[in-house]
Amino acid sequence: VQVTRFQLEQLMGDVLSLLEPKSLLMGHELKQVAPPYKMEIEADGEQLKQVMINLIQNGLEALTSKGVVEVSWARENDYAHISVKDTGDGIHPEHMTRIFDPFFTTKGDGTGMGLSICHRIITEHGGEIFVNSQPGLGTTFNIYLPLSQAGS
Ligand code: ADP
Ligand code: MG
Repeated sequence: VQVTRFQLEQLMGDVLSLLEPKSLLMGHELKQVAPPYKMEIEADGEQLKQVMINLIQNGLEALTSKGVVEVSWARENDYAHISVKDTGDGIHPEHMTRIFDPFFTTKGDGTGMGLSICHRIITEHGGEIFVNSQPGLGTTFNIYLPLSQAGS
């Protein structure tokens, strides 16, 4: 684990520009909603990038017809609240308790590792990750990560 202190918008910008071409190719829209202030966090940037890539990729894969994946972040008390919201098909209610399990996948070519890795990384950073999903409407993953306390 390589923990450094950095601005969240920087990391988000990197991840979004990485996935923008893929989103365009798939015919979907990748949106960002950034707050009008900077947020500093202490984290392993590479691991946090991996979390964001996994969540955005899942969001894009959940879209059938032309859809939107919206990534937003904001300060909430001493936490950075990051959310990845898609307008896809949602998660089957019976699958909700299993999606973070290693090897659980509903995709023919899925590994089922993405969300279990996200969960491990966020937990190791002292954060939390939750999902909200409405079948037919879409899914939102919410992450809470402690903000850097030192003079931010
Ligand atoms: P994989 O993407 O390889 O299937 P993940 O661990 O990333 O593995 O996801 C596990 C399962 O959770 C997926 O197969 C899918 O059923 C469900 N899932 C994850 N993200 C979404 C999403 N945004 N919308 C609908 N279902 C999702
Ligand atoms: Mg995945």
